[in-house]
Amino acid sequence: MITPRAAGHAAHLAADQLPAYVYDLADLADSARAVRAALPERAELYYAAKANPAAEILRTLAPHVSGYETASGGELAHVREAVPGMPLAFGGPGKTEAELRLALDLGVERFHVESEQELRLLADLADERPGGAPADILLRVNLPAVDAETSGAALAMGGRPSPFGLDPRSAEACLPLLRGRRLRLRGIHAHLASGLGPEAQLAVAARVTDWARDLAGRHRLQVTEVDVGGGMAVDYARPGARFDWQTYGRGLRELTAKHPDFTLRVEPGRALTAYCGWYVTEVLDLKHTHGEAFAVLRGGTHHLRTPAAKGHDHPFTVLPVDDWAQPWLRPAALGEPVTLSGQLCTPKDVFARRVPVARLRAGDRVAFAMAGAYAWNISHHDFLMHPPPTFHFLS
Ligand SMILES: *Cc1c(COP(=O)(O)O)cnc(C)c1O
Repeated sequence: MITPRAAGHAAHLAADQLPAYVYDLADLADSARAVRAALPERAELYYAAKANPAAEILRTLAPHVSGYETASGGELAHVREAVPGMPLAFGGPGKTEAELRLALDLGVERFHVESEQELRLLADLADERPGGAPADILLRVNLPAVDAETSGAALAMGGRPSPFGLDPRSAEACLPLLRGRRLRLRGIHAHLASGLGPEAQLAVAARVTDWARDLAGRHRLQVTEVDVGGGMAVDYARPGARFDWQTYGRGLRELTAKHPDFTLRVEPGRALTAYCGWYVTEVLDLKHTHGEAFAVLRGGTHHLRTPAAKGHDHPFTVLPVDDWAQPWLRPAALGEPVTLSGQLCTPKDVFARRVPVARLRAGDRVAFAMAGAYAWNISHHDFLMHPPPTFHFLS
């Protein structure tokens, strides 16, 4: 659950460096290489930067991805600077005029257009700059492709009423707006759900691709790209398991054979980077109240909001520390369930509830796994003004 490289580093950190985010970049490179190898040659792998936009992560992924999916002006500017020369797609709802201008200035390779209003705005801005290359766009559609209830999706962005993308009928109605504008329709984009296994992901991909082919046929469009989104499942209850990229890759290969005119693109975030990071901290206090054991850890969910956001028990490994300098008896939980909480003065500051441990003592270190995506960057860092963690990128 923790790589030897990360565990060794975590054990040797000085106490004043805790809590610490430790990232194993060599492990990240290995897994990204394996993901790329599992996908058909004609499929493109983009990384959704919002999962973890740290420059070291973006640069480690660069040799293994075709580009990056970004979803704000801030991400665009940051990713362009961190990995110059790599293709960028700009998606996300509610793009402002200033963000669209920035994207045009940066020469963003693909715009994922989310609405008719956004299309009109982008068309006006693109027309203002004669001489420049036209803006290349994909229309993001919200297709009824996934039954979130039966597929087990953790988060559904499409297939139901949502603020994401265009209703399929609106997408069709947008097509006349493209005529005579400095816009080039390259294809269709859909990101319908997060947390899907390979079969459900392939069903989504097939649905989106068929829809794109039918649309192109009906309107005689030169559509060559279909981006089938991200959302490959990550199971926090099984930190040793991985999304089955082999099965997914085989299915995509069949799909590319069926649609030789299309370049397929996938844009996972979480499934690429979740496993490369650990939040390492120490047990400050351990006590029993009303018959239950509580370990109070340095730091809290203001550094690692993932368990609070997702409502799960975050997986962890105990890194025992045998030194105990105090003259009094060391507080410990032995062979019993323990709730791991943080330093925040709220009962919501819990990493994991009533998880059985063989032994956990004050002064032991704890490494929370799967903290490489949607972890530090989604957390409410300033709440209670505790010191920030330190960051360690191991290569
Ligand atoms: C968030 C997002 C992704 C990545 O989702 P993961 O669940 O991290 O794989 C991809 N595409 C779009 C449009 C997104 O909003």
